[in-house]
Amino acid sequence: MEQNKDINQFDIPLAKRTYLKNPNSIPLKKLLIFSPFLILIFSIVALRLIRNLEGGPFIDLIFQVEKIHEHRVLGHLPYNEIPREKLVLIEPNIEVHIDMRDSLLNMREEAKKDGIYLVFLSGYRSINLQNDIFYSLKSKRNQEAAERARVSAPPGYSEHSTGFAIDIGDATRRETDFETEFENTKAFRWLKMNAAKFHFKLSFDKDNKYIDYEPWHWRYEGTIEALKVFENSNRKS
Ligand SMILES: [Zn+2]
Repeated sequence: MEQNKDINQFDIPLAKRTYLKNPNSIPLKKLLIFSPFLILIFSIVALRLIRNLEGGPFIDLIFQVEKIHEHRVLGHLPYNEIPREKLVLIEPNIEVHIDMRDSLLNMREEAKKDGIYLVFLSGYRSINLQNDIFYSLKSKRNQEAAERARVSAPPGYSEHSTGFAIDIGDATRRETDFETEFENTKAFRWLKMNAAKFHFKLSFDKDNKYIDYEPWHWRYEGTIEALKVFENSNRKS
């Protein structure tokens, strides 16, 4: 009797142990039954979250980077034409955006004080003029569009149509106008050192993978409007 009692005493804890496993398996079973529903609920929540994030700055940035890439034509970004009322004539044949006139003329004056003579070669160009330049030069030089685009923007894709771009030469080295050789002039060296003070920036530097180096081509970024115009261009670089 004593022995049986002892056995029973051992049996109880053993029985308890096997019983203890059961409560664990019930929630597991429940989980397995409900798992398709849980996956469904999780997917719905995730989709809603992504949809909400689409308006967020991070997702916006990703989409914008893709858009920039899509909207390029032969490597050039699209630009709107400046309204005529914002254009001013600064000298015969050179029109620029009214917001950049003072800064541009100041820059030329300051350069003169240092013995540097800047000459303005080209400012605003209408989309029509850009059309003529692009297509006439292309056929004259027997170039394909892609080849031509390395040195000239297709119509609607030129910084010149914004009025914020200016091509600059050295008045004492006119043979370097629109030539890479311009980078070896005093004028270019002066611009490299000083143009930023007047809010001018070189648009197509040597690192640009789409467009050939243009040491003569500068753009103005001294107003919010100008910065907005060149925002995409600045973001890619
Ligand atoms: Zn230019």
